[in-house]
Amino acid sequence: MDSIWSQTCQIKERSPLSGDLETEVAVIGAGMAGVLIASALQEAGKRVVVLEADRIASGQTRNTTAKLTSQHGMIYRKLTDTLGKKMARQYAMANEAALAEVRHMVAERMIDCDLEAQDAYVYGDDADKLRSEAECAAALGLPASFVETTALPFPTAGAVRFEGQAQFHPLKFLKAMVEPLTIFEHTRVQEVEEHRLITEHGTVTAEKIVFACHYPFVNFPGLYFARMHQERSYVLALENAPMIDGMWVFADGASNPYSFRTWNHLLLLGGGGHRCGENSAGGRYDELRRKAREWFPESREAAHWSAQDCMPAESVPYIGRYAASRPNWYVATGFQKWGMTTSMVSAMLLRDLICGRENPYAEVFDPGRLDMETIPGVLEESGQAVKGHTKRLFQIPAETAEKLQPGHGGIVFLDGEKVGVYKDEDGTIYPVDLKCPHLGCQLEWNPDEKSWDCPCHGSRFDRYGALISGPAQTGTHAEP
Ligand SMILES: Cc1cc2nc3c(=O)[nH]c(=O)nc-3n(C[C@H](O)[C@H](O)[C@H](O)COP(=O)(O)OP(=O)(O)OC[C@H]3O[C@@H](n4cnc5c(N)ncnc54)[C@H](O)[C@@H]3O)c2cc1C
Repeated sequence: MDSIWSQTCQIKERSPLSGDLETEVAVIGAGMAGVLIASALQEAGKRVVVLEADRIASGQTRNTTAKLTSQHGMIYRKLTDTLGKKMARQYAMANEAALAEVRHMVAERMIDCDLEAQDAYVYGDDADKLRSEAECAAALGLPASFVETTALPFPTAGAVRFEGQAQFHPLKFLKAMVEPLTIFEHTRVQEVEEHRLITEHGTVTAEKIVFACHYPFVNFPGLYFARMHQERSYVLALENAPMIDGMWVFADGASNPYSFRTWNHLLLLGGGGHRCGENSAGGRYDELRRKAREWFPESREAAHWSAQDCMPAESVPYIGRYAASRPNWYVATGFQKWGMTTSMVSAMLLRDLICGRENPYAEVFDPGRLDMETIPGVLEESGQAVKGHTKRLFQIPAETAEKLQPGHGGIVFLDGEKVGVYKDEDGTIYPVDLKCPHLGCQLEWNPDEKSWDCPCHGSRFDRYGALISGPAQTGTHAEP
């Protein structure tokens, strides 16, 4: 189902690339990150072209919940303890600057995008941890405090409040931002050379190339596949529910792990987060519906949708040079479900890097960092990849195609081959190759979205095997 953002804002279609062209900067991807990066570079005087595989904002951005805040869960105690106060302050101030920049743009360009001030809260069951987070964030210069009572429909031990944050309609904002940009839609970048992007409609030669495609699809150099995974979560938009003031997310370990924000007359209830590819039991929307009935018995569901984001091994996005061996490539990824402000951080930071200016926040986001903190996360990602390969080779399917219920999918033996199968309502069977075209892990069925998802790196395919989102760049159809 479409998100409330897609249902209420249409962005004019652009033509695909046609032939070859040259430019100063080529940006891959027209989500929140690609659009803001392109816009900042164009404002700085660069000639910029954006190539988008599908439509503008057709990736994760259309399915976000669009809270604009420097409060990224309970991150500041963690960053201070692992990377030190200097890095934690850079992270904090970069996101505060990004929030201010969004406000500035909306005011200066008079963008009608439902931007409104809201306080942001992270709630939980452990008051000591919440207090510690509030103190740490305040010491870094953030507008943070601990509050004992919350507006939520269940008991908590309190919350960390960040005053003066904001929420908006992400597509109304992007619709205005893309206006002056040169964007080619339906133009997937298939290959990337040092200064050249190859698509099926032509090539773009560029001095600088920016990967803003959510998950970088060039595996070597960069090794981004070993440094992050993707997490998916689910959202209901509820009519006739109470309008809870503020924007709310949960702290790790909270007994009620949900998120809340309002838009117009709707309350958005989010939750059900899991590593992409690990939802074979399903029931994520049903769980949210149960909670909606319990807490807001008068409410009605107006829409539901889901999205996923890249979770970096050491809890800091990768924004900067792609790899030491590719000095003209740049990347913005690993936004850990906070890509509204982090896309703006990416825009300001990459504009400065590409224009040869100093940026006060570059160090903490530098993808070139690799310290002892990174290594456990990298090892964990590698362990998951080994698991994904092993399952494909050795796991025996528990289902047979005959036993699958209509409208369901599963892993079966079909004509002696282990394949993924979707059975439609008429009983027709659609087989897919279970080997993810990205790096070969075994795909898993996601009953909530009726999709095939990769547990290693988070590529997704529809029930028939067509690509939904990367890092894979092709579909996964079984041999006839
Ligand atoms: C449930 C959920 C709720 C969230 N809520 C919030 C929130 O409240 N606040 C917040 O700050 N963040 C939130 N986020 C995170 C935020 O939505 C994302 O971080 C952000 O939308 C990512 O934007 P992006 O531009 O990096 O990616 P995308 O929007 O996915 O854009 C990438 C684009 O690249 C294109 N592309 C890919 N490969 C190619 C190729 N080869 N050639 C050309 N184009 C290509 C894709 O088609 C896509 O359009 C949430 C995330 C989730 C999962």
